[in-house]
Amino acid sequence: MKMEQPRFVIPSSEVESMAKNSNLTVLQLLPTLVPSAKALARPPISQYHVGTVALGASGRVFLGCNIEFPGVPLHQSIHAEQFLIANAALHSEPLLLHIAVSSAPCGHCRQFLQELRRATDINICITTSSDEMLFKPISHFLPNRFGPDDLLHEDVPLILEPHHNGLVLCDHSNAGVESNGWADWTRALEAAALEAANGSHAPYSGCPSGVAMMDCDGKVYKGSYMESAAYNPSLGPVQAALVAYIVGAGGLRCD
Ligand SMILES: [Zn+2]
Repeated sequence: MKMEQPRFVIPSSEVESMAKNSNLTVLQLLPTLVPSAKALARPPISQYHVGTVALGASGRVFLGCNIEFPGVPLHQSIHAEQFLIANAALHSEPLLLHIAVSSAPCGHCRQFLQELRRATDINICITTSSDEMLFKPISHFLPNRFGPDDLLHEDVPLILEPHHNGLVLCDHSNAGVESNGWADWTRALEAAALEAANGSHAPYSGCPSGVAMMDCDGKVYKGSYMESAAYNPSLGPVQAALVAYIVGAGGLRCD
């Protein structure tokens, strides 16, 4: 039997009809979608599954989950909330203001969320808490915030806002290289990596970067480096590209 492919983005029209069919408001619907996101988590190290969903300003709902990689340093892990933001960035969502998550966000994620415009307006609902349908402002979880406004001018674009870093490829010309499949793949990957680097949020280091990868079917996935004002919670471009791959491929297989 063919399994239905998991989806990481729900269109706004479908969100509306799901809420209507469940006799819920869209905000009441959000926590009910968290178990679907949690089921997509792949945490082979901790076995601790985290799922999160967010309502975007466009009316779309985005899903995120935690992903762990055995045999590499733990900081390569992708936290569910970072997955969520990378997923929203991938789909050019300008703003996230309501987030429901299966577990209390860790300190790393509370900090990373500060990198969104109007972060202080973000409301979070922890679905496993006793008041599981209640959204609370992010200041409840992270009072006395430190964020981009401590280091950047207010005109500097934040994550989910358009970035134009103005990078170009050096002339490393493929002159003399025969046009073949390999060269075409290389060019496609270079162009995608450049595009990702030009969309990277790296205002603190001034070192934007992007990664592109190709699957066995020739489909290209790209990820942009995203920095945090607290530096260490930044999300690497490889992780962002892996999010794009997981979203594009409809999840990771367990077998
Ligand atoms: Zn976290």
